[in-house]
Amino acid sequence: MSDFSDYKGTWVFLEVKDGEIVPVSLELLGAGRQLADKRTTQLAGVLVGHNVTPLAKKAFEYGADVVYVYDAPIYRHYRTETYMRAILACVEKHKPEILLYGATSTGKDLASAVATDLPTGLTADTTQLDVEADTGLLLASRPAFGGNIMATILCKKYRPQMATVRAKVMKPLAREPGRAGTVIEESIPLEEADIRTKVLEIVRATTHRVRIDEADIIVAGGKGLGGPAGFQLIHRLAETIGAAVGASRDVVEAGWVEHHHQVGQTGVTVTPKIYFAIGISGAIQHIVGMQNSGLIIAINKDPNAAIFQCCHYGIVGDALAIVPLLIEAFKTALT
Ligand code: FAD
Repeated sequence: MSDFSDYKGTWVFLEVKDGEIVPVSLELLGAGRQLADKRTTQLAGVLVGHNVTPLAKKAFEYGADVVYVYDAPIYRHYRTETYMRAILACVEKHKPEILLYGATSTGKDLASAVATDLPTGLTADTTQLDVEADTGLLLASRPAFGGNIMATILCKKYRPQMATVRAKVMKPLAREPGRAGTVIEESIPLEEADIRTKVLEIVRATTHRVRIDEADIIVAGGKGLGGPAGFQLIHRLAETIGAAVGASRDVVEAGWVEHHHQVGQTGVTVTPKIYFAIGISGAIQHIVGMQNSGLIIAINKDPNAAIFQCCHYGIVGDALAIVPLLIEAFKTALT
């Protein structure tokens, strides 16, 4: 194996959105802390943005020992080129052994750009992380072959070892108010004129509906609803109890709802307090995205449906008859 003795420490890219470190980055500090402790090394965060330096305090309170900060107006909006250059410079200068990113659209974009330029390996959508204490090899595991097996992926020949990790799969540490660390201010020569991408305007999608990755209650529907008209029952039940709408992939592919409602391996991983799975068969690719929900209630007309293996309460019957009754019952209870 090559000599990687110069590469030390576990790093987390601290993604910032609307002036806050995003939750998945805090979750990664929790996971990164365990890796760093196993290697008896430091846990560092990398912050890139404009006016982001004060956020380092929060990273320390969630487990970081060091935060490298690239704070300049040129980083005000995420752009692959500017952020990638900052990360590349930091990696080349300080040589981390492991570098983790949230599997958000920003994290995925940035990690793949950095991996290509370095070059090094990148394990995408990791759901478990461990490290060999003696060799420092990162054991990045993720579902493979349609979710039927867990593959553990190693990067033996390059450093840093990189992985993107899905939101809500790892747990953040309990916040330790006042926990301190070292801020290291970094900068690289970067001129606006050298950057090919310009952000002209940010247009935010407006929705009155609850987002599935933040919802306490999700009402998810599958092909058992029969069609877009049947799926409207899912929207109505969700609206009645203030829940978000989730869906199986088959429903999304049929065009009944947009992709951002999809729960599962190729959708969003969710951990609401209550998850209704209605007319959903319970394929493994769906289960991996919702199995850690607090309370799972399934409705399916097939008593042998796989979803009944992972739910807390199951109702065997026709969803098209049961859901309207639930809507009326909840309406009465909530008025
Ligand atoms: P079906 O499997 O058709 O099940 C419909 C269910 O509804 C059945 O159990 C049936 O008994 C029940 N039913 C029918 N009529 C009624 C009724 N009137 N009342 C009550 N119940 C009724 N799937 C995901 O969901 N998310 C993913 O992220 C995802 N990623 C994938 C990635 C890969 C690589 C692959 C290969 C597949 C992926 N899938 C994913 C697809 C997955 O394998 C299943 O095909 C899909 O989840 C099935 O969707 P469904 O349960 O809605 O439909």
